[in-house]
Amino acid sequence: MRHFAPVFWAVRAALVLASVSALSPSPVWAQATLPVPKPTGAATPSGSPVVPPARASAPSRLQAHVQAPITVRMNTPARDFFGKMTGPAPMKPQAIGSYAKGCQAGAVALPQNGPGFQVMRLSRNRFWGQPELIDYLEDLGRDAPKLGWRGLMIGDMAQPRGGPMTSGHASHQIGLDADIWLKQMPDHIMTASERENVSAVSMLRGRLDVAGADRTVDPKKFTAAHARLIRRAAKDPRVARIFVSPGIKKALCVFETGDRAWLRVVRPWWGHHYHFHVRLKCPAGDGACQNQAAPPPGDGCGKALAWWMSDEPWVPKPDAKPAKPKPPLTLAALPKQCIAVLQAR
Ligand SMILES: [Zn+2]
Repeated sequence: MRHFAPVFWAVRAALVLASVSALSPSPVWAQATLPVPKPTGAATPSGSPVVPPARASAPSRLQAHVQAPITVRMNTPARDFFGKMTGPAPMKPQAIGSYAKGCQAGAVALPQNGPGFQVMRLSRNRFWGQPELIDYLEDLGRDAPKLGWRGLMIGDMAQPRGGPMTSGHASHQIGLDADIWLKQMPDHIMTASERENVSAVSMLRGRLDVAGADRTVDPKKFTAAHARLIRRAAKDPRVARIFVSPGIKKALCVFETGDRAWLRVVRPWWGHHYHFHVRLKCPAGDGACQNQAAPPPGDGCGKALAWWMSDEPWVPKPDAKPAKPKPPLTLAALPKQCIAVLQAR
């Protein structure tokens, strides 16, 4: 597998360029990474110009990415740098570091539309990931209709060069995490403004942070199709973990009457009732990527889940001091390779 990798990446890059070209007639980042013949005005035998004239006014978010040179300051919050990256680091794809402390090289953009998926909130520019994540999402999208799910609405993946974000997520830093809405895509290709404004739907009955709250899902919202989708997502061997609200995990524990092995990777967590969060294992051969320890054995439907359904994780103790917010990660806290990722152009 290993020695085929260069060929694979070359093909992958060509495909990515092709799909980007479909969006933008003149992707500047492609020109920055590949030699593009200069338009000389010379004609081909058929009489058409060798290179189509660049459309200077073509609106494209990808054109925004001629990355301005940056001066790194090691004690500055890393999100201040990574949040400004508009395009990927033109390097070999690599997830660097760990899910909540790292960055990514050679990221690929998930196309805005594909069979069985559409990307949401395009303005956030968080539709980047490692090729393995792109493949995974495309595979899941392709299978979705067979599960009674029209298609995926894809939420945040990672920034073009990964790293800490200016808002939201602690993880999603190395291009191996993706949020998938718990809502199936509509029957049409959404406009950019629909993708910004359509709301996600919570699966819960109400608040979780009051004593004695019912933390199960509302069965009118969380259906068998939702359960089939998460099961399909979890059965993929590339998956390390899937995070869901404890009520969703509980519903899945009841839903599965056959082989329960997949339930092991579905982990209860705070949030995650508007979307589920898929985390992939480090891709084979990625030496800079740090896996998390595997989840504890078993389906996770017993004692641990009972704790998550109790008041304990949710209801603040009357005498509790408000938790001090963690200081943001500085560049110095990230793996050294992330500096090269920031500076690559
Ligand atoms: Zn997430």
